[in-house]
Amino acid sequence: MHNLDLFKEQISSSSPKKIIITTHYKPDADALGSSLGMANYLKKKGHEVLVVTPSDYPSFLNWMEGNDEVVNFEDKDKKKWVGEKIQDADIIFCLDFSCLSRLQEMGDLVKSSKAFKVNIDHHQDPEDFAEFTYWSTKAAATCELVFELITMVGDKDLLDQDIAECLYAGIMTDTGGFKHPNTTKNIHLVTAELIGLGADNAKIARLIYDTNSLNRLKFLGFALTRRLEILEDCQTAYFAISKKDLRKYDSRTGDTEGLVNYALSLDGVKIAALFTEKKDGVKISFRSAEEVEVNKFAATHFKGGGHKNAAGGVSDLNMKETIQKFEYLIRENKHILFNQLELINEKNQ
Ligand code: 5GP
Ligand code: MN
Repeated sequence: MHNLDLFKEQISSSSPKKIIITTHYKPDADALGSSLGMANYLKKKGHEVLVVTPSDYPSFLNWMEGNDEVVNFEDKDKKKWVGEKIQDADIIFCLDFSCLSRLQEMGDLVKSSKAFKVNIDHHQDPEDFAEFTYWSTKAAATCELVFELITMVGDKDLLDQDIAECLYAGIMTDTGGFKHPNTTKNIHLVTAELIGLGADNAKIARLIYDTNSLNRLKFLGFALTRRLEILEDCQTAYFAISKKDLRKYDSRTGDTEGLVNYALSLDGVKIAALFTEKKDGVKISFRSAEEVEVNKFAATHFKGGGHKNAAGGVSDLNMKETIQKFEYLIRENKHILFNQLELINEKNQ
């Protein structure tokens, strides 16, 4: 933690600033919740704030306060205007990501802007691109860090129900509904404060988890019966979803979110993957249990990264070749991937 005074000075109400807040491609609840939570706070401090996402995001997030003013950079009519806003900004907040490549096309624009850059994140291996960084891999969610930072600068009294609900959403989803090992004492304390501020936890859970379309549920049934493969000798299970499958169920952004967890929920499975065919390759989500580190696997073999138990990557090969590569690598690296687990088990015996 450094330069808190410099950050405080930058966001001081005494000199209103033009602020852009952005987050990673295909934002999830932590990405959007931290962005809108921060935006609502900075607006209360008197700043002019614009939230720009590098892509669209699932409709189950659009209840958050400020959602209607979010600009999607992929919206052709807005691209030029957003580019000018980025060049003209005094401060750019980059939330829930640490590598500018996760902004895709927007990355170069942010990099070349003269704005004071702030990076708040909990992913591994951050790039050093910001003037102020508040970063910890120990944090369960970027929303947790946003809460802490606002508290540290002495503005806790500016938090309200709208901000609390945005932050609660990110914490709820990034902890897998308070199930993952990142569900610490601190995250419960922060969550208690958010509920104290009026965050309606039951309402948010319903808005995020219980607003499925019938197509999405049918797609889930189809994926579970027809697209789930198991590598029993490797404690691994995966889904491979083609463009045709997505079209058949009129798939929308967010419809595949959470699917990979069904593969991991199988008894005995420690590594799960979801392969989704895109226009220009295959997008991959990895999940793992216990000590198995999928982020290193994703970084080494699939140009990706992430957290120990939840990572992602991409493949330029077609689906069949990608699956072949994955199966080969899992078998080849079985001992490395499971080694730590075995060591720990041995130690505990
Ligand atoms: P998801 O599977 O939910 O898309 O992503 C899980 C986690 O993996 C994210 O929180 C993010 O940390 C990481 N991740 C996903 N895709 C990528 C990627 O293409 N590159 C990197 N570096 N990390 C990714
Ligand atoms: Mn996050």
